[in-house]
Amino acid sequence: QIRVGVLALQGAFSEHIILLNTLPQVSEAVAVRNAKEISEVDALVIPGGESTTMALIAERSGFMPTLKEFVRTHPTWGTCAGLILLSEAITSGGTLKGDQKLLGGLSITIKRNAFGTQKESFEAGLHVDGLDNAEKLFPGVFIRAPVIDEILKPDEVEVVAKLERDYGKTPKGTIVAVRQGHLLGSAFHPELTRDNRMHLFFVKMAQEWIAKQNK
Ligand code: GLN
Repeated sequence: QIRVGVLALQGAFSEHIILLNTLPQVSEAVAVRNAKEISEVDALVIPGGESTTMALIAERSGFMPTLKEFVRTHPTWGTCAGLILLSEAITSGGTLKGDQKLLGGLSITIKRNAFGTQKESFEAGLHVDGLDNAEKLFPGVFIRAPVIDEILKPDEVEVVAKLERDYGKTPKGTIVAVRQGHLLGSAFHPELTRDNRMHLFFVKMAQEWIAKQNK
């Protein structure tokens, strides 16, 4: 079993905690707000919310360097705003373009608010690689969601899910979830569904990665 932290500076963290606590592979899922709390978990989820606000709070409280180091060395999954924080750069969207603080780790660039006002929030059926019962579509809940613009290291970054059709101006084939080693990122919100397969996927991936490190 592993102990999973959910970054609780802002955003939809309680839903992740509730869902993770239903998994037998998780001893406990807890909120993480500071250096002490993060030192007590094996893996981390960075939830959806507002990436600029989350970064600002982390920065002001001096938590940013510890958080960055954790992400570099431990299994971490970013959903929506969390995916933005794990990216290397933002290529478009949002007002703080260029000077928004990011954690990095995933070798990708991001378009923030990619679905614009045409589609603030919607659900898309997705095939997500690696899930149990993979042929069953996963309900991808997108809320002012980003998309992955560019993959900077194609030999290291694995595409896990793509849009199955056009959504407004965002075309079919647009990448919405990736994995790179110990890091997972998704543009949608699995914590807002009753489908726990994505959480299970992350927890198993984290367990495998941790086991490999300890060999
Ligand atoms: N638009 C938000 C951002 O840029 C992300 C939205 C979300 O997490 N649901 O941070």
